[in-house]
Amino acid sequence: MDTASCSVCGTTVEGDPPLTWSASTGPRGRTLVCDRCTRDNVRSIEAKLDEEWW
Ligand SMILES: [Zn+2]
Repeated sequence: MDTASCSVCGTTVEGDPPLTWSASTGPRGRTLVCDRCTRDNVRSIEAKLDEEWW
């Protein structure tokens, strides 16, 4: 079973990351950010989504 870990705070969950987590794909592979860190960083993440997410 895979383990998903937040790239910001290091929180880990077993299995697939919750839907509330954010995922983005960068040069080093998939990056996951948990719901708490997503809320903390929502502005910077949204700015990135415009460029990378779609
Ligand atoms: Zn986190």
